[in-house]
Amino acid sequence: MIETTAFPKDLKAVFFDMDGVLYDSMTNHAHTWVESFKAAGIDFPAYDAYMNEGRTGPSTIIKAFELYGSRSATERDIQEIYDHKTRLMQEAPEAALMPGMQDVLRQTMAKGLKVVVVTGSKQPMLLSRLKNDYHIADDNIISGFDVKKGKPDPEPYLMALEKAGCLASQALVVENAPLGVESARAAGIFTIAVNTGILKPEVLSHAGANLVFPGTEALAEEWPGML
Ligand code: MG
Repeated sequence: MIETTAFPKDLKAVFFDMDGVLYDSMTNHAHTWVESFKAAGIDFPAYDAYMNEGRTGPSTIIKAFELYGSRSATERDIQEIYDHKTRLMQEAPEAALMPGMQDVLRQTMAKGLKVVVVTGSKQPMLLSRLKNDYHIADDNIISGFDVKKGKPDPEPYLMALEKAGCLASQALVVENAPLGVESARAAGIFTIAVNTGILKPEVLSHAGANLVFPGTEALAEEWPGML
């Protein structure tokens, strides 16, 4: 794996995570994880939803059983809990756009940079909003439907590099979750973290983030200068 720590000089592409970066959706995710695990007899704290954000649904369920269950998750557990979570997500309040991010994406596209959304999510509600809210074509989305391993493995960000047709040293990632940061850094990409949830900022720098902003508004302020 190629390690890069320098800000890309020849920037060609920017990869954005979705939940907690483009949409204020993490409170919905945390709440629906806690509820769907509770129904299955697993006491999963909301904090863990933030720490494990970025994993695919099945991976999160396997992890939760490892941490808080008395046995391993079965295929049936995975199916039932994820179906339950998906139902709860459909009833959850509509997630707002993260402040400043429409401007950030508009400016990025105006510079002719390739934009790819890289998310572990398989939630159709939000994925289907990306086109209208952020002008992201379906072809420029890598979701939980496309990956085998998912974050924190570098796989999804390596797929994004391939889609963008550029080198790791020519790309930037914007992430809010420690496992997303790990995934992007393992793919060798300069990674900007926005701390939009309940985690301490050092969790994101310890995960390998090259820069940490306190939120998307702060990022949006600096963004034109960074491009
Ligand atoms: Mg996220």
